[in-house]
Amino acid sequence: IKWTEGRGWHDAQLTPYAPLSVDPANMTLHYAQEIFEGLKAYRRPDGSVATFRPDANARRFQLSARRLAMPELPVETFIEACDALVQQDKAWVPEHGGEASLYLRPFMFANEVGLGVRPANEYLFIVIASPAGPYFPGGVKPVSVWLSENYVRAVPGGIGFAKTGGNYAASLLAQAEAAAKGCDQVVWLDALEHRTVEEMGGMNLYFVYGDRIVTPELTGSLLAGITRDSLLTLARDLGYESEEGRVTTDQWKRDTENGTLTEVFACGTAAVITPVGTVKSTDGEWTQSNGEPGKVTMELRKALLDIQTGKAADEHGWMHELG
Ligand code: PMP
Repeated sequence: IKWTEGRGWHDAQLTPYAPLSVDPANMTLHYAQEIFEGLKAYRRPDGSVATFRPDANARRFQLSARRLAMPELPVETFIEACDALVQQDKAWVPEHGGEASLYLRPFMFANEVGLGVRPANEYLFIVIASPAGPYFPGGVKPVSVWLSENYVRAVPGGIGFAKTGGNYAASLLAQAEAAAKGCDQVVWLDALEHRTVEEMGGMNLYFVYGDRIVTPELTGSLLAGITRDSLLTLARDLGYESEEGRVTTDQWKRDTENGTLTEVFACGTAAVITPVGTVKSTDGEWTQSNGEPGKVTMELRKALLDIQTGKAADEHGWMHELG
């Protein structure tokens, strides 16, 4: 779907996957005015297909668009575009039974030629899809994380809450640093003091204190994950207290050592829920739940996946049925 200044959204098309041709002076290549989303379509036991909370992705896409000075795509148009692609590619939505899904990647970018730094007058919105296997084919394994003090992902007033490529470009070096420390993922801390936990490279974090689960509050510099939001509700359904709050790295270490912080997990569309095992920082190294997936982590993981794959009732109306 195209957007042109003065004309708005026009020319929606469903076409076979093909390369785009790009002008070397396309503004996106130079000034990175682009945003994206990620969501999944799952097969249900009766063979029907549904996407998980596409309305929430559509609203986050609008927030990202506003921050990047781009036009907002109406929520209904976003959902219609995803639906049209899933209907077309239905055969690619994996069989019911596992955790496999069809991953959808909606994205929008400036599609104007010019070297002046200003919001573009033309944009292109596209959705592509790719089958995604189970994230943990050999069973759920905790990830090891590196607490990044040398780099920050986002600053107050910046673009951290938007899902835009620049945030990911800024994260690559820190991710390489995490890998050099022998860790799977980087954990981002706040930009000013490097003390408050924000999020993981591509997932939000949760801290389990017995039957109370806490996730870092939305400070404006982390992504408001849709999985994170769903778990605030789902955990309450299962009898846990769930809340947003502030967790510092000192607290993380101290509460693990004194046994009050029983589990830590990360959550996002790709892995749904991943336990955190070893934590490394300049301040030392410690391990959550003896390096095993925690009980609450796995209970929440199953509860959410059961809703997504249609094994459990969808009491919150999260699944968008496509028939
Ligand atoms: N934080 C970041 C930086 C991410 O890229 C993602 C993945 N979209 C998340 C959190 C989790 O968000 P969601 O649950 O909407 O996938």
